[in-house]
Amino acid sequence: MFGMPPKKSDNSKYYETLGVPKNASQEDLKKAYRKSAIKNHPDKGGDPEKFKEIAQAYEVLSDPEKRQIYDQYGEDAIKEGGGFGGGHVDPFTIFRDLFTGGGNPFGQRERKGEDVIHPLKVSLEDLYKGISKRLLISRNVLCSKCKGKGSKSGASSKCPGCQGSGIKVSFRQIGPGMVQQIPQPCITCKGTGETIKMNDRCESCKGEKVVKEKKTLEVVVEKGMQNGQKITFSGQADEAPDMVTGDIVFVLQQKEHPKFKRKHDDLFYEHKLSLTEALCGFQFVLTHLDGRKLLVKSQTGEVIKPDQFKAINDEGMVIYQWPFMKGKLYIHFTVEFPDKLVSDQCKALESILPNRSKVSDIESEECEETTLHDVNIEEEMRKKDQQAAQEAYEEDDHMRGGAPVQCAQQ
Ligand SMILES: [Zn+2]
Ligand SMILES: [Zn+2]
Repeated sequence: MFGMPPKKSDNSKYYETLGVPKNASQEDLKKAYRKSAIKNHPDKGGDPEKFKEIAQAYEVLSDPEKRQIYDQYGEDAIKEGGGFGGGHVDPFTIFRDLFTGGGNPFGQRERKGEDVIHPLKVSLEDLYKGISKRLLISRNVLCSKCKGKGSKSGASSKCPGCQGSGIKVSFRQIGPGMVQQIPQPCITCKGTGETIKMNDRCESCKGEKVVKEKKTLEVVVEKGMQNGQKITFSGQADEAPDMVTGDIVFVLQQKEHPKFKRKHDDLFYEHKLSLTEALCGFQFVLTHLDGRKLLVKSQTGEVIKPDQFKAINDEGMVIYQWPFMKGKLYIHFTVEFPDKLVSDQCKALESILPNRSKVSDIESEECEETTLHDVNIEEEMRKKDQQAAQEAYEEDDHMRGGAPVQCAQQ
Protein backbone atom coordinates (compact mmCIF):
# COMPACT_ATOMS: atom_id res chain seq x y z
CA MET A 1 0.00 0.00 0.00
CA PHE A 2 2.85 2.37 0.68
CA GLY A 3 5.54 2.85 -1.92
CA MET A 4 8.11 3.61 0.71
CA PRO A 5 7.94 3.13 4.44
CA PRO A 6 6.95 6.53 5.76
CA LYS A 7 9.22 8.44 8.11
CA LYS A 8 8.31 8.41 11.70
CA SER A 9 6.33 11.52 12.64
CA ASP A 10 4.42 12.76 15.68
CA ASN A 11 2.30 9.95 17.10
CA SER A 12 1.03 11.32 20.38
CA LYS A 13 -0.90 14.47 19.38
CA TYR A 14 -4.19 12.62 18.81
CA TYR A 15 -4.04 11.09 22.27
CA GLU A 16 -3.32 14.48 23.79
CA THR A 17 -6.17 16.07 21.84
CA LEU A 18 -8.62 13.61 23.35
CA GLY A 19 -6.85 13.65 26.69
CA VAL A 20 -6.41 9.89 26.94
CA PRO A 21 -3.35 7.70 27.57
CA LYS A 22 -1.82 5.74 24.69
CA ASN A 23 -3.25 2.48 25.92
CA ALA A 24 -6.81 3.86 26.14
CA SER A 25 -9.56 1.36 25.32
CA GLN A 26 -12.13 1.93 22.61
CA GLU A 27 -14.65 2.70 25.31
CA ASP A 28 -12.34 5.33 26.89
CA LEU A 29 -11.79 6.91 23.49
CA LYS A 30 -15.48 7.11 22.83
CA LYS A 31 -16.20 8.68 26.19
CA ALA A 32 -13.37 11.18 25.87
CA TYR A 33 -14.44 12.10 22.36
CA ARG A 34 -18.05 12.53 23.33
CA LYS A 35 -17.22 14.76 26.23
CA SER A 36 -14.84 17.00 24.39
CA ALA A 37 -16.91 17.16 21.18
CA ILE A 38 -19.94 18.41 23.08
CA LYS A 39 -17.80 20.94 24.92
CA ASN A 40 -16.24 22.29 21.74
CA HIS A 41 -19.25 22.05 19.43
CA PRO A 42 -19.56 25.20 17.28
CA ASP A 43 -23.27 25.38 18.12
CA LYS A 44 -22.22 26.17 21.65
CA GLY A 45 -19.73 28.73 20.47
CA GLY A 46 -16.82 26.30 20.39
CA ASP A 47 -13.87 26.73 18.04
CA PRO A 48 -14.64 24.92 14.75
CA GLU A 49 -10.92 24.18 14.27
CA LYS A 50 -10.64 22.57 17.66
CA PHE A 51 -13.85 20.62 16.99
CA LYS A 52 -12.34 19.34 13.75
CA GLU A 53 -9.12 18.30 15.44
CA ILE A 54 -11.03 16.29 18.02
CA ALA A 55 -12.98 14.53 15.30
CA GLN A 56 -9.83 13.82 13.32
CA ALA A 57 -8.16 12.29 16.37
CA TYR A 58 -11.17 10.17 17.17
CA GLU A 59 -11.67 9.07 13.59
CA VAL A 60 -8.14 7.68 13.45
CA LEU A 61 -7.89 6.19 16.93
CA SER A 62 -11.30 4.52 16.84
CA ASP A 63 -10.22 2.51 13.81
CA PRO A 64 -7.81 -0.25 14.95
CA GLU A 65 -6.07 -0.36 11.59
CA LYS A 66 -5.54 3.39 11.40
CA ARG A 67 -4.56 3.52 15.03
CA GLN A 68 -1.84 0.95 14.44
CA ILE A 69 -0.43 2.95 11.53
CA TYR A 70 -0.61 6.12 13.60
CA ASP A 71 1.15 4.52 16.56
CA GLN A 72 3.86 3.13 14.31
CA TYR A 73 4.45 5.93 11.82
CA GLY A 74 2.65 8.97 13.15
CA GLU A 75 0.28 11.56 11.78
CA ASP A 76 1.99 12.01 8.40
CA ALA A 77 1.47 8.38 7.50
CA ILE A 78 -2.23 8.76 8.11
CA LYS A 79 -2.46 11.95 6.07
CA GLU A 80 -0.43 10.56 3.18
CA GLY A 81 -2.04 7.17 3.13
CA GLY A 82 -4.82 8.32 0.82
CA GLY A 83 -6.40 4.88 0.87
CA PHE A 84 -7.24 5.40 4.48
CA GLY A 85 -9.04 8.62 3.79
CA GLY A 86 -7.23 10.29 6.63
CA GLY A 87 -7.45 13.79 5.24
CA HIS A 88 -11.18 13.87 4.56
CA VAL A 89 -12.84 13.79 7.89
CA ASP A 90 -16.20 15.42 8.31
CA PRO A 91 -16.26 16.25 12.00
CA PHE A 92 -20.03 16.71 11.95
CA THR A 93 -20.65 13.27 10.51
CA ILE A 94 -18.55 11.68 13.21
CA PHE A 95 -20.37 13.67 15.86
CA ARG A 96 -23.76 12.72 14.47
CA ASP A 97 -22.92 9.04 14.24
CA LEU A 98 -21.97 8.91 17.86
CA PHE A 99 -25.39 10.17 18.87
CA THR A 100 -27.45 8.23 16.38
CA GLY A 101 -25.94 4.93 17.41
CA GLY A 102 -23.95 4.81 14.19
CA GLY A 103 -20.17 4.73 14.34
CA ASN A 104 -19.27 1.29 15.57
CA PRO A 105 -15.92 1.02 17.32
CA PHE A 106 -14.21 0.00 14.09
CA GLY A 107 -14.95 3.19 12.30
CA GLN A 108 -17.26 1.73 9.66
CA ARG A 109 -20.08 4.13 10.09
CA GLU A 110 -22.99 1.93 9.09
CA ARG A 111 -26.35 2.35 10.66
CA LYS A 112 -29.10 -0.23 10.58
CA GLY A 113 -32.57 0.79 9.52
CA GLU A 114 -35.53 -0.13 11.63
CA ASP A 115 -37.20 -3.50 11.40
CA VAL A 116 -40.81 -3.43 10.24
CA ILE A 117 -43.07 -5.67 12.28
CA HIS A 118 -46.39 -6.90 10.88
CA PRO A 119 -48.86 -9.06 12.79
CA LEU A 120 -50.09 -11.95 10.64
CA LYS A 121 -53.43 -13.46 11.58
CA VAL A 122 -53.67 -17.20 11.03
CA SER A 123 -56.24 -19.82 11.92
CA LEU A 124 -55.44 -22.96 13.88
CA GLU A 125 -56.11 -24.85 10.64
CA ASP A 126 -53.35 -22.78 8.96
CA LEU A 127 -50.89 -23.73 11.71
CA TYR A 128 -51.93 -27.39 11.48
CA LYS A 129 -51.76 -27.75 7.72
CA GLY A 130 -49.20 -25.08 6.91
CA ILE A 131 -50.01 -22.33 4.45
CA SER A 132 -48.28 -19.91 2.17
CA LYS A 133 -49.64 -16.38 1.97
CA ARG A 134 -48.78 -13.81 -0.66
CA LEU A 135 -48.72 -10.36 0.86
CA LEU A 136 -48.38 -7.07 -0.95
CA ILE A 137 -46.20 -4.66 0.97
CA SER A 138 -45.13 -1.11 0.30
CA ARG A 139 -41.54 -0.15 1.09
CA ASN A 140 -39.02 2.61 0.44
CA VAL A 141 -36.23 1.78 -1.97
CA LEU A 142 -33.31 3.96 -2.99
CA CYS A 143 -34.28 6.05 -6.01
CA SER A 144 -32.70 4.44 -9.05
CA LYS A 145 -32.64 7.65 -11.05
CA CYS A 146 -30.37 9.55 -8.66
CA LYS A 147 -28.91 6.43 -7.01
CA GLY A 148 -30.13 7.67 -3.66
CA LYS A 149 -28.41 11.05 -3.88
CA GLY A 150 -31.63 13.03 -4.16
CA SER A 151 -30.15 15.53 -6.60
CA LYS A 152 -29.76 15.66 -10.38
CA SER A 153 -26.12 16.70 -10.14
CA GLY A 154 -25.25 14.27 -7.38
CA ALA A 155 -24.38 17.23 -5.19
CA SER A 156 -25.75 17.99 -1.80
CA SER A 157 -24.85 20.70 0.58
CA LYS A 158 -24.50 20.85 4.28
CA CYS A 159 -27.63 21.77 6.09
CA PRO A 160 -27.25 25.33 7.37
CA GLY A 161 -29.38 24.50 10.37
CA CYS A 162 -26.97 21.97 11.87
CA GLN A 163 -23.82 22.52 9.78
CA GLY A 164 -24.28 19.05 8.39
CA SER A 165 -24.21 17.16 11.64
CA GLY A 166 -27.90 16.34 11.57
CA ILE A 167 -27.91 17.05 15.29
CA LYS A 168 -28.78 20.24 17.07
CA VAL A 169 -27.50 20.51 20.58
CA SER A 170 -29.60 22.66 22.81
CA PHE A 171 -28.46 23.77 26.22
CA ARG A 172 -30.55 24.01 29.29
CA GLN A 173 -29.59 25.67 32.54
CA ILE A 174 -30.25 23.14 35.27
CA GLY A 175 -28.56 24.94 38.13
CA PRO A 176 -26.03 27.65 38.89
CA GLY A 177 -23.13 27.05 36.52
CA MET A 178 -24.64 23.76 35.39
CA VAL A 179 -25.77 23.26 31.83
CA GLN A 180 -27.37 20.20 30.40
CA GLN A 181 -26.73 19.37 26.75
CA ILE A 182 -29.62 17.92 24.82
CA PRO A 183 -28.80 16.59 21.35
CA GLN A 184 -31.81 16.35 19.03
CA PRO A 185 -32.20 15.58 15.32
CA CYS A 186 -32.13 18.75 13.21
CA ILE A 187 -35.60 19.72 11.98
CA THR A 188 -34.44 21.49 8.81
CA CYS A 189 -32.80 18.40 7.28
CA LYS A 190 -34.68 15.71 9.26
CA GLY A 191 -31.39 14.65 10.78
CA THR A 192 -29.69 13.86 7.50
CA GLY A 193 -27.27 16.78 7.71
CA GLU A 194 -27.83 17.74 4.07
CA THR A 195 -30.12 19.89 2.02
CA ILE A 196 -30.61 19.82 -1.72
CA LYS A 197 -31.29 22.97 -3.73
CA MET A 198 -34.82 23.21 -5.13
CA ASN A 199 -33.79 23.22 -8.79
CA ASP A 200 -31.30 20.38 -8.32
CA ARG A 201 -33.81 17.99 -6.82
CA CYS A 202 -34.18 14.62 -8.52
CA GLU A 203 -37.48 14.57 -10.42
CA SER A 204 -38.15 10.96 -9.64
CA CYS A 205 -37.89 11.13 -5.85
CA LYS A 206 -38.33 14.90 -5.37
CA GLY A 207 -35.09 14.98 -3.45
CA GLU A 208 -36.27 12.37 -0.95
CA LYS A 209 -33.61 9.87 -2.16
CA VAL A 210 -36.09 7.04 -1.86
CA VAL A 211 -39.25 6.05 -3.72
CA LYS A 212 -42.14 3.78 -2.75
CA GLU A 213 -42.15 0.30 -4.18
CA LYS A 214 -44.86 -2.35 -4.04
CA LYS A 215 -43.58 -5.84 -3.54
CA THR A 216 -45.19 -9.22 -3.01
CA LEU A 217 -43.75 -11.36 -0.26
CA GLU A 218 -44.50 -15.04 0.00
CA VAL A 219 -44.86 -15.83 3.67
CA VAL A 220 -44.61 -19.55 4.36
CA VAL A 221 -46.33 -20.59 7.58
CA GLU A 222 -44.91 -24.01 8.36
CA LYS A 223 -46.85 -26.85 9.93
CA GLY A 224 -46.81 -26.68 13.70
CA MET A 225 -45.71 -23.07 14.05
CA GLN A 226 -46.81 -21.31 17.22
CA ASN A 227 -48.80 -18.24 18.06
CA GLY A 228 -46.24 -15.41 18.42
CA GLN A 229 -43.62 -17.10 16.24
CA LYS A 230 -41.70 -14.78 13.90
CA ILE A 231 -41.07 -15.14 10.19
CA THR A 232 -38.26 -12.82 9.11
CA PHE A 233 -37.35 -11.39 5.73
CA SER A 234 -33.84 -10.09 6.26
CA GLY A 235 -32.97 -6.74 4.74
CA GLN A 236 -36.39 -6.24 3.16
CA ALA A 237 -37.58 -3.24 5.16
CA ASP A 238 -37.31 0.38 4.04
CA GLU A 239 -34.09 1.32 2.30
CA ALA A 240 -32.34 4.57 3.15
CA PRO A 241 -29.01 6.07 2.07
CA ASP A 242 -25.98 4.97 4.12
CA MET A 243 -27.95 2.46 6.07
CA VAL A 244 -28.12 -1.28 6.36
CA THR A 245 -31.70 -2.16 5.52
CA GLY A 246 -33.71 -3.58 8.42
CA ASP A 247 -35.87 -6.69 8.35
CA ILE A 248 -39.55 -7.26 7.72
CA VAL A 249 -40.84 -9.46 10.50
CA PHE A 250 -44.21 -11.18 10.52
CA VAL A 251 -45.49 -12.21 13.93
CA LEU A 252 -48.08 -14.98 13.85
CA GLN A 253 -51.30 -14.28 15.69
CA GLN A 254 -53.52 -17.29 16.00
CA LYS A 255 -57.24 -16.63 15.90
CA GLU A 256 -59.39 -18.41 18.49
CA HIS A 257 -60.89 -21.63 17.24
CA PRO A 258 -64.52 -22.37 18.09
CA LYS A 259 -63.89 -26.07 18.77
CA PHE A 260 -60.19 -26.74 19.33
CA LYS A 261 -57.74 -25.23 21.79
CA ARG A 262 -54.01 -25.72 21.40
CA LYS A 263 -51.53 -26.24 24.20
CA HIS A 264 -47.99 -26.77 22.88
CA ASP A 265 -48.20 -29.96 20.81
CA ASP A 266 -51.57 -31.05 22.11
CA LEU A 267 -55.11 -30.20 21.13
CA PHE A 268 -58.14 -29.97 23.37
CA TYR A 269 -61.67 -30.55 22.17
CA GLU A 270 -64.89 -30.02 24.12
CA HIS A 271 -67.72 -32.50 23.71
CA LYS A 272 -71.08 -32.49 25.41
CA LEU A 273 -72.81 -35.82 26.14
CA SER A 274 -76.42 -36.36 27.09
CA LEU A 275 -76.93 -38.26 30.34
CA THR A 276 -78.07 -41.28 28.33
CA GLU A 277 -74.88 -41.17 26.24
CA ALA A 278 -72.72 -40.80 29.34
CA LEU A 279 -74.38 -43.82 30.93
CA CYS A 280 -75.14 -46.07 27.97
CA GLY A 281 -72.40 -45.22 25.48
CA PHE A 282 -71.98 -42.76 22.64
CA GLN A 283 -70.45 -42.21 19.25
CA PHE A 284 -69.91 -39.06 17.24
CA VAL A 285 -67.99 -37.71 14.25
CA LEU A 286 -65.15 -35.29 15.02
CA THR A 287 -64.03 -33.18 12.05
CA HIS A 288 -60.29 -32.55 12.44
CA LEU A 289 -58.41 -29.35 11.52
CA ASP A 290 -57.46 -30.78 8.12
CA GLY A 291 -61.05 -31.86 7.37
CA ARG A 292 -60.53 -35.58 8.14
CA LYS A 293 -63.45 -37.18 9.94
CA LEU A 294 -62.68 -39.22 13.04
CA LEU A 295 -65.19 -41.62 14.54
CA VAL A 296 -65.07 -41.28 18.32
CA LYS A 297 -66.90 -43.85 20.42
CA SER A 298 -67.04 -45.26 23.93
CA GLN A 299 -66.29 -48.85 24.81
CA THR A 300 -69.13 -51.24 25.56
CA GLY A 301 -70.48 -50.73 29.09
CA GLU A 302 -68.25 -47.72 29.75
CA VAL A 303 -69.70 -44.80 31.72
CA ILE A 304 -68.30 -41.29 31.20
CA LYS A 305 -68.42 -39.00 34.20
CA PRO A 306 -68.86 -35.21 34.04
CA ASP A 307 -65.54 -33.37 33.38
CA GLN A 308 -63.72 -36.55 32.41
CA PHE A 309 -60.89 -36.39 29.85
CA LYS A 310 -59.97 -38.98 27.25
CA ALA A 311 -57.07 -38.83 24.81
CA ILE A 312 -56.54 -39.95 21.23
CA ASN A 313 -52.83 -40.47 20.63
CA ASP A 314 -51.12 -38.94 17.57
CA GLU A 315 -54.10 -36.79 16.64
CA GLY A 316 -52.92 -33.64 18.41
CA MET A 317 -51.00 -30.73 16.89
CA VAL A 318 -48.40 -31.29 14.20
CA ILE A 319 -44.95 -30.85 15.73
CA TYR A 320 -42.97 -27.99 14.18
CA GLN A 321 -40.26 -29.26 11.84
CA TRP A 322 -41.35 -32.85 12.54
CA PRO A 323 -44.48 -32.88 10.37
CA PHE A 324 -45.03 -36.62 10.76
CA MET A 325 -45.21 -36.41 14.51
CA LYS A 326 -48.21 -35.19 16.41
CA GLY A 327 -49.16 -34.62 20.03
CA LYS A 328 -52.31 -35.90 21.70
CA LEU A 329 -55.91 -34.93 21.13
CA TYR A 330 -57.63 -34.60 24.48
CA ILE A 331 -61.40 -34.69 24.62
CA HIS A 332 -63.07 -33.03 27.56
CA PHE A 333 -66.55 -34.42 28.24
CA THR A 334 -69.33 -32.50 29.87
CA VAL A 335 -72.56 -34.28 30.68
CA GLU A 336 -75.91 -32.64 30.26
CA PHE A 337 -78.35 -33.68 32.97
CA PRO A 338 -82.10 -33.32 32.53
CA ASP A 339 -83.58 -30.41 34.54
CA LYS A 340 -86.60 -32.34 35.80
CA LEU A 341 -87.99 -35.86 35.83
CA VAL A 342 -91.58 -36.95 36.25
CA SER A 343 -92.36 -39.68 38.79
CA ASP A 344 -92.81 -42.39 36.15
CA GLN A 345 -89.29 -41.67 34.91
CA CYS A 346 -88.00 -41.85 38.46
CA LYS A 347 -89.67 -45.18 39.00
CA ALA A 348 -88.15 -46.53 35.79
CA LEU A 349 -84.70 -45.37 36.84
CA GLU A 350 -85.10 -46.70 40.37
CA SER A 351 -85.87 -50.08 38.95
CA ILE A 352 -82.41 -50.29 37.34
CA LEU A 353 -80.14 -47.94 39.31
CA PRO A 354 -78.89 -48.41 42.91
CA ASN A 355 -81.39 -47.74 45.70
CA ARG A 356 -81.86 -44.29 47.21
CA SER A 357 -81.04 -43.76 50.90
CA LYS A 358 -84.12 -43.01 52.98
CA VAL A 359 -84.78 -41.37 56.35
CA SER A 360 -87.33 -43.28 58.37
CA ASP A 361 -90.56 -41.58 59.44
CA ILE A 362 -89.65 -41.89 63.10
CA GLU A 363 -86.27 -40.33 62.52
CA SER A 364 -87.64 -37.46 60.45
CA GLU A 365 -90.12 -36.50 63.13
CA GLU A 366 -87.23 -35.58 65.38
CA CYS A 367 -85.70 -33.30 62.71
CA GLU A 368 -86.34 -29.68 61.74
CA GLU A 369 -87.54 -28.85 58.24
CA THR A 370 -85.17 -27.03 55.82
CA THR A 371 -85.40 -25.47 52.35
CA LEU A 372 -82.70 -25.73 49.67
CA HIS A 373 -82.11 -22.56 47.60
CA ASP A 374 -80.38 -22.25 44.25
CA VAL A 375 -76.99 -20.54 44.45
CA ASN A 376 -74.26 -19.36 42.16
CA ILE A 377 -71.46 -20.56 44.41
CA GLU A 378 -68.55 -18.87 42.63
CA GLU A 379 -70.26 -15.50 42.64
CA GLU A 380 -71.19 -15.77 46.33
CA MET A 381 -67.69 -16.86 47.41
CA ARG A 382 -66.11 -14.03 45.44
CA LYS A 383 -68.35 -11.46 47.15
CA LYS A 384 -67.56 -12.88 50.56
CA ASP A 385 -63.80 -12.80 49.94
CA GLN A 386 -64.04 -9.19 48.81
CA GLN A 387 -65.98 -8.24 51.90
CA ALA A 388 -63.49 -9.97 54.18
CA ALA A 389 -60.56 -8.21 52.51
CA GLN A 390 -62.28 -4.84 52.87
CA GLU A 391 -62.94 -5.41 56.56
CA ALA A 392 -59.35 -6.52 57.20
CA TYR A 393 -58.12 -3.37 55.49
CA GLU A 394 -60.36 -1.11 57.54
CA GLU A 395 -59.32 -2.85 60.74
CA ASP A 396 -55.67 -2.41 59.85
CA ASP A 397 -56.25 1.21 58.92
CA HIS A 398 -57.97 1.87 62.20
CA MET A 399 -55.12 0.32 64.21
CA ARG A 400 -52.50 2.38 62.41
CA GLY A 401 -54.22 5.70 61.84
CA GLY A 402 -56.43 6.18 64.86
CA ALA A 403 -54.70 7.30 68.05
CA PRO A 404 -55.30 4.90 70.90
CA VAL A 405 -58.13 6.14 73.00
CA GLN A 406 -56.94 7.35 76.37
CA CYS A 407 -59.28 7.00 79.20
CA ALA A 408 -59.25 10.12 81.22
CA GLN A 409 -58.80 9.05 84.82
CA GLN A 410 -60.55 11.27 87.28
ZN1 LIG B 1 -29.81 20.04 9.61
ZN1 LIG C 1 -34.07 10.39 -7.04
